[in-house]
Amino acid sequence: MIAARSHAHQDTGVFGLARSGLASVRALKAGGARVYAWDDKESARIAAEAEGATVLPWRDWPWTKLKALILSPGVPLTHPKPHDIVVKAGENKVEVIGDVELFAREMKGKAPVIAITGTNGKSTTTALTGHILEACGFDAQIGGNIGKPVLELAPPGPKTIYVLEVSSYQIDLTPGLKPDVGVLSNITPDHIDRHGSLENYAAVKARLIENAAAAVIGIDDAQTKAIFTRMGAKQATAVSVGKVLGRGVFVLDGVLYDSQGGRANKIMDLREATHLPGSHNWQNAALAYAATRPYARDARAAASAIADFPGLAHRIEDVGRIGRLRFVNDSKATNADAAERALVCFDGIYWIAGGRAKEGGIEPLAKHFGRIRKAYLIGEAAKDFAQTLDGKVAYEISGTLDAAVASAARDASRDGVASAGGDGSAAPVVLLSPACASFDQFRDFEHRGDAFRAAVAKLAMREAS
Ligand code: ADP
Repeated sequence: MIAARSHAHQDTGVFGLARSGLASVRALKAGGARVYAWDDKESARIAAEAEGATVLPWRDWPWTKLKALILSPGVPLTHPKPHDIVVKAGENKVEVIGDVELFAREMKGKAPVIAITGTNGKSTTTALTGHILEACGFDAQIGGNIGKPVLELAPPGPKTIYVLEVSSYQIDLTPGLKPDVGVLSNITPDHIDRHGSLENYAAVKARLIENAAAAVIGIDDAQTKAIFTRMGAKQATAVSVGKVLGRGVFVLDGVLYDSQGGRANKIMDLREATHLPGSHNWQNAALAYAATRPYARDARAAASAIADFPGLAHRIEDVGRIGRLRFVNDSKATNADAAERALVCFDGIYWIAGGRAKEGGIEPLAKHFGRIRKAYLIGEAAKDFAQTLDGKVAYEISGTLDAAVASAARDASRDGVASAGGDGSAAPVVLLSPACASFDQFRDFEHRGDAFRAAVAKLAMREAS
């Protein structure tokens, strides 16, 4: 745990007591602050009280004495409209910050910080960056929006490098974070409801990168390209998948190159990194390579770490095999765009999709329907998705995930592709890539992915017996 000493002897409020909020209470108490805390959930309030906070409804806090409000990133700061507590803080001139800001104030100069943001690929890039650093002998402390809240990471030692995934909501609450390396993967329209417009959203992301001593920017979309152009190649390293760069890190036909001063050095063939399939993951690998370059000077060690990266759960994750039939868990794909990344990685797909639909449904995936042998539709979206598939792809309405797994495995074995030897083509795959939110049938995407893994394990056991 990292003690937050910047508020010693001060009255501080913490609103929102999920994991990062509770970590803030603990860190502030350890740093000697007086902490007022509130959350609408009783269990969270009990936990905060156990950490030594004074639990009071936020309207009853001593606002005239309060020096700071630590806000959970889930609470609206500006859009669609500021939460009442933010208005209250404004009226009382109380600064509103987040847990990452407490971390930044504590950590100034004590250990390098690599901060990673972007619309997609943050978690993968963060985990991979940490993995490369570990392989090169560093103590990588990985946290933020992934894994542990930042204040729960270990205090710095001589080889510590902090690798933080930072969401745009967290950046809004973190004016003082000046990372040693700031990484921006990409910017596409997302979370616009919370930022008002794409321009605002891009500006928030840009702020983190512009505050960094060195930046790494994926330049393959219009928004990030503009940010790179504004910053210039002196302060920022460009990263591209598909464009040859005179200076920067790029991937061409799956091969990763590091180009400095006009000479492109081949680093590795990313197709050897079996847990980083797809060109989106090549972008993540190139970003992680570029982010670690100032520290992990041995390019060969970095390349071998990328090659043996075990991957993250729920993102095109292999969860089992029965004969030749692969089962792949891509539960994190909660929209069509994410599902597309998985569909392009395979042929002969038995596709499990559905849940709570996002706008646009699966229409945008029509160009990949040829890869799908049959679809198994679950959850609220099943009927709508069936309409989109009708006449183009065979489907059934399975209803539940368990039924979908059983039907898909049965069909694959009936098609003769599941047995060893199979039909001679690439290994067929039962792919859960739902293109939907999970909340109609599951707690969250992790719960859905775990249920898929359990269903596959049950099936494999039955096959074996
Ligand atoms: P995040 O933490 O930003 O949500 P993840 O690494 O968890 O990103 O990946 C989430 C999903 O986003 C993946 O399942 C994949 O579909 C998609 N994705 C991952 N990396 C990229 C990328 N570089 N560009 C576009 N999409 C990506």
